[in-house]
Amino acid sequence: MSIQSNLKNIQASIPEHVTLVAVSKTKPSSDIEEAYASGQRIFGENKVQELCDKFEVLPKDIEWHMIGHLQRNKVKYITPFVSLIHGVDSERLLREINKQAAKNDRIVNCLLQFHIAKEETKFGFSREEILELISTGVFNELKNICIKGVMGMATNTDNQDEVAKEFSSLSSLANELQAHFGDDFKTVSMGMSGDYSLAIENGSNMVRVGSSIFGHRNYQK
Ligand SMILES: *Cc1c(COP(=O)(O)O)cnc(C)c1O
Repeated sequence: MSIQSNLKNIQASIPEHVTLVAVSKTKPSSDIEEAYASGQRIFGENKVQELCDKFEVLPKDIEWHMIGHLQRNKVKYITPFVSLIHGVDSERLLREINKQAAKNDRIVNCLLQFHIAKEETKFGFSREEILELISTGVFNELKNICIKGVMGMATNTDNQDEVAKEFSSLSSLANELQAHFGDDFKTVSMGMSGDYSLAIENGSNMVRVGSSIFGHRNYQK
């Protein structure tokens, strides 16, 4: 199957209110150009260097999403152009993004990543941590950040009930937090190639799909 037909099939299988982020990590720019030619404009990457390299050479109307774990010392490289940072998982990272955004005279869109999976290796805030940051007024200080919603990754398991439960807990949390963050806060980023349909059934409105579009990744290169 070609990238273009994969994209068409996925677009046809997701409802209109769901945004598709095409996850192009490890894939060459020529693959992105192919997806671009069939109308895809939103791409997700998880490494800062790779994201910057691709931004340089590819069309400027692409919306680049940073979906991976972001180190504070690398925030400055993506702040000038990034459209949405999905993996914001600490107060220190929030403050660094805000600082760099101010330097660039930008408002940077961010999603709060929540830890919903069973694996300890996955990143993210807990509900309690965010409620604490809200109550201490931290978000009001971050004038150059717009919190657009939440992001999460489910446990890597065949147990569909468990995955559905994790997704629905994240969308309930998003509903709860919307009262604080207001109308800009409406993105629920969850679901990847293996579980995006289940994620949408449980409240996702942004899916991050890589291998089902571009094929399996080869990390050996
Ligand atoms: C790689 C990645 C994806 C896409 O994974 P696929 O299984 O290839 O669809 C989605 N989200 C994040 C955070 C990723 O790192």
